[in-house]
Amino acid sequence: MENNENHNSNNFDINNSIINNFNFYELAKKHGFKEKNVKTILNKSKENRGVFLGDYSLNPYLGCSFDCKYCYINGSKYAGSTKSFYIKSNALNILKNQLKRKSKIGERGIILFGSATDPYIDIEKELFLTRDLLKITNRFRFPIHLVTKSDLVLRDIDLFKKINENGILPKDIEKLDSKVIITFSFSTLDEKVAKIFEPNAPNINRRLKAIKKLKDEEFLVGVSLMPLLPFISDSYESIDKIISIFSDIEVDYVFGGSLTLFGERDNDSKTKYYKILNENFPKFVEPTKNIFKEKEYPNISYQNNIYKNLENVCRKYNIKNSII
Ligand code: SF4
Repeated sequence: MENNENHNSNNFDINNSIINNFNFYELAKKHGFKEKNVKTILNKSKENRGVFLGDYSLNPYLGCSFDCKYCYINGSKYAGSTKSFYIKSNALNILKNQLKRKSKIGERGIILFGSATDPYIDIEKELFLTRDLLKITNRFRFPIHLVTKSDLVLRDIDLFKKINENGILPKDIEKLDSKVIITFSFSTLDEKVAKIFEPNAPNINRRLKAIKKLKDEEFLVGVSLMPLLPFISDSYESIDKIISIFSDIEVDYVFGGSLTLFGERDNDSKTKYYKILNENFPKFVEPTKNIFKEKEYPNISYQNNIYKNLENVCRKYNIKNSII
């Protein structure tokens, strides 16, 4: 993995301001990011222990250089665009203050990194913002769940070991017995298909190798098949083939879900997805439109079928289809 000699990435000291520590502005310019000051860095989860188990979500960046063609960020009401790049430049101070307060009153919870954008996008290789935020979670003993498509996550194994030693789980999930959860995200295991829909993300082989390495290190590692692509990777046979490979590398869990498509503007996920489908899989355009009609989600019977297939295949391979 690349390292930045100006950034002391191997110790566990926390630098309070990324701007003061090294050439923040040059890096931001190089990667096309702007700076944004935020009032809060932790968002309380609205769901009571949803599928990702997070009590709080944390996204160090806005925008995602992987720019997957189906990404819900584009066009959804939750975020602007994968191409509006911002660094939350006061994130370290804000997180330190928020976790200090929570620790004092004994409020514990899992921090979910990557609910909206990948925490290991390209700029992270040089900026180390996710890494510095992880150091703060370790100092205040908060457990973490990381969702990513990137093998850059391997860079931070040393920190994950510390968090696993030091973290304190919330009472209701103490039986989890792991303070670090790492979920890799896939929509297919076909490299050619991934290249079409996820052209800038690390390829499938790199993700699989990263999973193996993290499993060798005995972390809790699983897979999110979100979204399965209608008529491309969503059939029972396709799910079976995908999960058999995850079974071979002994992932701890696999969960998944269907595609969502938002918006009508050029960069919105619905527009982008149908454009790509037209160019590469024209015969699936009409069937896909049929399951969505005018909605952002496919119809309920399609969704139920996906969940049923995932459940059945996980049972066949004796893999959990949820983290707990
Ligand atoms: S990696 Fe995730 S957040 Fe980034 S573009 Fe792809 S789906 Fe969106």
